[in-house]
Amino acid sequence: MTTRTRIAAGNWKMNGTAADLAEVEAIAATGARTSEVVTLLCLPATLIDRARGYGVSLGGQTLHAATSGAHTGDISGQMLVDAGATYVIVGHSERRTDHGESDADICAQAEAAWAAGLTAVICIGETEAQYRAGETLDVLRGQIEGSVPQGATPGNTVIAYEPVWAIGTGLTPEVPEIQSVHAEVRAALGAHVHGGETLSVLYGGSVKAANAVGIFALDDVDGGLVGGASLKAADFVPVIEALA
Ligand code: PEP
Repeated sequence: MTTRTRIAAGNWKMNGTAADLAEVEAIAATGARTSEVVTLLCLPATLIDRARGYGVSLGGQTLHAATSGAHTGDISGQMLVDAGATYVIVGHSERRTDHGESDADICAQAEAAWAAGLTAVICIGETEAQYRAGETLDVLRGQIEGSVPQGATPGNTVIAYEPVWAIGTGLTPEVPEIQSVHAEVRAALGAHVHGGETLSVLYGGSVKAANAVGIFALDDVDGGLVGGASLKAADFVPVIEALA
């Protein structure tokens, strides 16, 4: 029997204003009914403080490795905590691509998250070209070695495996392939960090109600990191329920 934390995490990306707090409230109401699952919403920074009090866990989408200083437009772990976050995503492929964040940057961000008291949700995943070239496992092992700090524990770190080619495309790997990659990710985590095989490993990439049950039933999948289907309660609630 697994004791790994099961997490339904939504990544709202650059979406959402105060008008969408009604969706947060509706999602949180379901989350409260499914106490064996952590329901987490990684909101735009502008919404985190305003989403407090609904009973859902809150997260940021990135943070700067420094605690404060001359970093225009950035946000620190302490600021996220101050706003009410307990988690933060680091290393999302959109950050790796759009902002040139390296494994070393992500490793430093994860350590900064821990220092602030946040749980880091560290994203890894191969591109379509890497997938087609059969390089998936090599890429993931490299990202684990480079971006997961020593000292990662189930209390401070969650891993999200997100094939880049599955994010926002409606495409997913076949279900058995997701299981086999997650098993390899878990083994690589165990080889890299003492106890690493006990970390929660989420799958991300075009998760929706129609595929969530099959994906979440897999032995080495502990939940999902969900983009598009987390924005509306009507879409995200069935995903949370699929994990419960
Ligand atoms: C994501 O952004 O992490 C993601 C998985 O997006 P989507 O669910 O829309 O593919």
